[in-house]
Amino acid sequence: MTQQSLLTNRIEEVQERVAAACGRAGRSPADVQLIAVTKYVSLESTGQVLDAGLTHIGENRWQDAAPKWEAFGNRGTWHFIGHLQTNKVKDVVGRFAYIHSLDRLSLAKEIEKKASALGIVVPCFLQLNVSGEESKYGMEPEALLPFVKELRSMSSIKVEGLMTMAPYESEPEETRPVFRALREWRDRLNEAAVLDYEVHGLSMGMSNDFEVAIEEGATWVRLGSVLVGKE
Ligand SMILES: *Cc1c(COP(=O)(O)O)cnc(C)c1O
Repeated sequence: MTQQSLLTNRIEEVQERVAAACGRAGRSPADVQLIAVTKYVSLESTGQVLDAGLTHIGENRWQDAAPKWEAFGNRGTWHFIGHLQTNKVKDVVGRFAYIHSLDRLSLAKEIEKKASALGIVVPCFLQLNVSGEESKYGMEPEALLPFVKELRSMSSIKVEGLMTMAPYESEPEETRPVFRALREWRDRLNEAAVLDYEVHGLSMGMSNDFEVAIEEGATWVRLGSVLVGKE
């Protein structure tokens, strides 16, 4: 099989699994968007991902993403999903449509500064460390509401949703409490009406656990190996 037909097969398989998870949860597959995470693959393969019709591309390091963005930035919608260093904000804002890893005030201030200079509004997901693993980035969940209060004065940041990463589990079902908790934090944020708009997005679920995340309400799943492959 050619590389392109392997990719087409993986896409179809993932779409079937997404549809089945939506079916179990009584959700519409149209409410779940796939982000193709290309961090494990080459420039050429990233082009094939776009050729195959996937339009949302995720990368987690600017240095690795730069050549891909230079080649294909005008195709598709780019998502910055990894830990974002403050000194990389100038490279990322204006190029990536979404940031999934806003987790501290110093970063918010930098995004606000760059975005307002460009005259754009950046949709951001606030990253929570729900599982409490020390190795994970993200703010502790209790910090969410005070953090969002600080964001109210930053008119170039739109809170698109919340994001989390579950610990790797050999039994994906064990990730469910993490995803459920993220959804409950989103609901709490809306109930507290800290913002003058509703926050809808939940960026959660990766190759190992996306079906559980969808059952718990994911609106964006970030898929590398299962969708794009690994080289
Ligand atoms: C690498 C990465 C993914 C995708 O990982 P897979 O397990 O290959 O699907 C998703 N989200 C983030 C933040 C990542 O860094």
